[in-house]
Amino acid sequence: MENFKQFFTENSILSEVRKAQETLWLNPHRLPFGESAPKLELGTADIDDAEARLLRFAPLIEKLFPETAKQHGIIESPLVQTDEMKKLLAQKYNAPIAGKLLLKQDSHLAVAGSVKARGGIYEILKHTEDLALEHNLLQAGDDYSVLALPQNRDFFRRYTVQVGSTGNLGLSIGIMSAAIGYKVIVHMSADAKQWKKDLLRKCGVTVKEYSGDYGEAVKQGRTLSEQNPQSYFVDDENSRNLFLGYSVAGKRLQHQLKNLAITVDENHPLFVYIPCGVGGAPGGITFGLKQIYGDNVHCFFVEPVQAPSMLVGMATGLNNKISVQDIGLTGITQADGLAVGRPSSFVGEIMKPLLSGIFTVSDEKLYHYMQDFYKSEHIFLEPSACAAFQGVCRLSDSVQMKDYLQENNLSAKMAEATHIVWATGGSLVPPDIQQEYLSAAI
Ligand SMILES: *Cc1c(COP(=O)(O)O)cnc(C)c1O
Repeated sequence: MENFKQFFTENSILSEVRKAQETLWLNPHRLPFGESAPKLELGTADIDDAEARLLRFAPLIEKLFPETAKQHGIIESPLVQTDEMKKLLAQKYNAPIAGKLLLKQDSHLAVAGSVKARGGIYEILKHTEDLALEHNLLQAGDDYSVLALPQNRDFFRRYTVQVGSTGNLGLSIGIMSAAIGYKVIVHMSADAKQWKKDLLRKCGVTVKEYSGDYGEAVKQGRTLSEQNPQSYFVDDENSRNLFLGYSVAGKRLQHQLKNLAITVDENHPLFVYIPCGVGGAPGGITFGLKQIYGDNVHCFFVEPVQAPSMLVGMATGLNNKISVQDIGLTGITQADGLAVGRPSSFVGEIMKPLLSGIFTVSDEKLYHYMQDFYKSEHIFLEPSACAAFQGVCRLSDSVQMKDYLQENNLSAKMAEATHIVWATGGSLVPPDIQQEYLSAAI
């Protein structure tokens, strides 16, 4: 902690964050999108490439997961208006919202039941395509559903996929890899919920458990994978593929907003609130949205008060060279998907000119949002996903937010604004555990 004392000056953001109180950090490094875009290491061509790959794989996904047939093998989630929750937030939380409130239901993405169905599945498909082309299982232009043939499954059985996870990434990688035929080893941190381990084992996945946190599980997984030349390691902290899988969400959302006749432009700003762990999912989504809406979209992350890893990394500029433990926090939270002590440095770098800010939220509030949301909209979300509500709740009472709106010439436009709460997980939570969460006395 000694090394980081310079950041703990009076009234500094880290002095505030160290107290594990709810706060908002506004990103002082944000730039107009036109200025930042050319300097980023990734761009629209990379997103288009990822989107095209998902399309090529759609026939295989449809074959392996018949529940995706209605969407022809495209894994995408609904975007729904949540007027009852909007009323409740105004009444119970004293958080009136002038514009529209919508929920992006990545909690209900097919196959993996969380936002990880975007990045995790995409990365496995990319790896699969690379192997299949290299070994002539596929020719350009082929229908990719041939990969489900028994001889091709036998081929993939010779290869191993490994990943370190707090739970949901393991689920998405495990379910998809096992369906294609790979051997899979998921390295789970201590935070991972038992039901997630059980579900993976039922799919034939090897689950290794660690008493340490997420960083420890990743380290062990990486080391073991390096020892096996037939093994591929999904690197949640550094993977460009994961990031690009998430980023396709921007284009998908654009279609959905159009279908709902919702305009986003200079006079109709879009606000998006996304729960953040290591940063890949919210970073990729933000990156995808920024490419489309530029300065008209305002992206905020939300992290638990005890695990604000991205906030600490971005506010100090040290990215993954600093952990929440370094400033005296525990990193422990009920929001298992967000229980990350050290952020991705690659994501922190890309977010530097793009992100608007980061909220922190207490675990207690996560349960309140979860229970209230279920009561008002009858949709179950896991605690991690409910972090996103903190953004809309603090919109009206945060002095900093008021300044942000003024500085960005938004104050007079808020009646025309759209707010999207990005719900990142929940539909795979077993019914008895849902009941437990919903009846927990907080
Ligand atoms: C993984 C996860 C997140 C955050 O994604 P990161 O890539 O770790 O930042 C948010 N919510 C849920 C439910 C998750 O599983």
